[in-house]
Amino acid sequence: VPDVFFIKYFSIFLQVMNLNFSEDTITAVATPMGTGAIAIVRISGVDSIAIADEIFVGKKKLSECETHTIHYGKIYDSTGDIIDDVLVSIFISPNSFTGENCVEISSHGNPLITKKIIEVLLEKGVRNATPGEFTKRAFLNGKIDLAQAEAVAEVINSRTEVSLKGARNQLDGMLSKKVADFRTDLINTSSLIELELDFAEEEIEFVGYEKLQELILGVITEIDELLKSYNFGRVIRDGVNVALVGKPNVGKSSLLNYILKESRSIVSAIPGTTRDIIREEVSIDGILFKLFDTAGIRESEDLIEIEGVLRSREAIRDADFVILLSDVNDLFSEELYEELLEVTIREKIILVGNKIDLKKERDFSADCLISAKTGEGIEKLFELLKSKAIGNNVYTERSAIVTNSRHYQSLERTKSHLLTALESARSKMSGEFIAFDLRNAENSLSEIIGEVSSDDILNNIFASFCIGK
Ligand code: GDP
Repeated sequence: VPDVFFIKYFSIFLQVMNLNFSEDTITAVATPMGTGAIAIVRISGVDSIAIADEIFVGKKKLSECETHTIHYGKIYDSTGDIIDDVLVSIFISPNSFTGENCVEISSHGNPLITKKIIEVLLEKGVRNATPGEFTKRAFLNGKIDLAQAEAVAEVINSRTEVSLKGARNQLDGMLSKKVADFRTDLINTSSLIELELDFAEEEIEFVGYEKLQELILGVITEIDELLKSYNFGRVIRDGVNVALVGKPNVGKSSLLNYILKESRSIVSAIPGTTRDIIREEVSIDGILFKLFDTAGIRESEDLIEIEGVLRSREAIRDADFVILLSDVNDLFSEELYEELLEVTIREKIILVGNKIDLKKERDFSADCLISAKTGEGIEKLFELLKSKAIGNNVYTERSAIVTNSRHYQSLERTKSHLLTALESARSKMSGEFIAFDLRNAENSLSEIIGEVSSDDILNNIFASFCIGK
């Protein structure tokens, strides 16, 4: 069993015994770099309150104060000079975010001040926290599970309201609860089988093969539901990549500019000026759309254009959707469409006709007709994009959805173990085999909430956090 399993339970044990697992005390600035009204320096670890007392002078010693109280005073450097007047909040273990003794120093929001506070803390033996170390400690001390720890980073990094809701949901334990329910089902089932094995000689049957199949199938169905939510979850979390493709002058930059109402891509009447990929992000109804104006995918002699073509092809390959923009007053470019099909699939391509404000009497077949100049039809275009991206999915506060590829992979592994178990139950194999597969399935599920995980996985997860979280 991986080390982390022991570390976690060992530290919970120590906490119960009112001891702290980590000996060292860590610190970091928790607020963004730059100036502001207030900045917060965070300290966590067994000595944090005692060390804060060494640099802080207020009405009372912090170590004599109660948990969850705030104190006004001054922070001094080692020469006795005042660094700043501050408010200090204290949280006594285990009632803090990390589960350890924690101190938060709110100073004036000048990076020079926080830098000095950190410096005196380092002199007192505190060390700089690594990225995500506060959250990692919260996990190791059993305050939150791994899915919730990951949600902390997502809550911070969400850029649209819907993705924030999704992350909040995960932090509140919606996914963890689902996973816990599945685990209970699996553990109950395999216990029954094991019990049956113990009583093999008496030929007592606790759960028949029929019932067993039914139980396993029930969990598979629910896991399938979660797996299905991933596409929606990914859209919520990462947004939708949309590549804009079209012959020169069809109005790609104009469309982009209309959407963004801010001209960053060059709108010009000279063909081929958009040489590089221009990327813009807009949030529409809480969903993030990332739009790329591509340089074109046609072969070219021009070196800069060749580079542009390569990059465009890459962007198109990675895109969730490709808008093939045409001028409705011109002929539809079959050639370009064929070239697109070399890089992407038909289902991802949306045919859009532009410049309907100039339309002469001619039929032009497209999924959507717009004018980048007047804005006509653009709302419909986004409706179309949205319905293609999220289908009929609606987001409710109580939804458990999978937004994270690590969770998705664990669920896939769980399902595959369950399918093996189901197969064994169908062919009436001995209970040992079925119980073994159910245990495996349960282990894969446990990875999501971090009951079983390797140091590598943990390091990987927390390395993507910002320092101070
Ligand atoms: P791109 O090369 O595809 O990026 O095309 P541009 O956005 O630079 O547009 C080329 C020209 O067509 C510019 O002069 C635009 O003002 C014009 N244009 C773009 N969209 C429309 C539209 O919907 N209606 C009209 N009348 N002109 C447009």
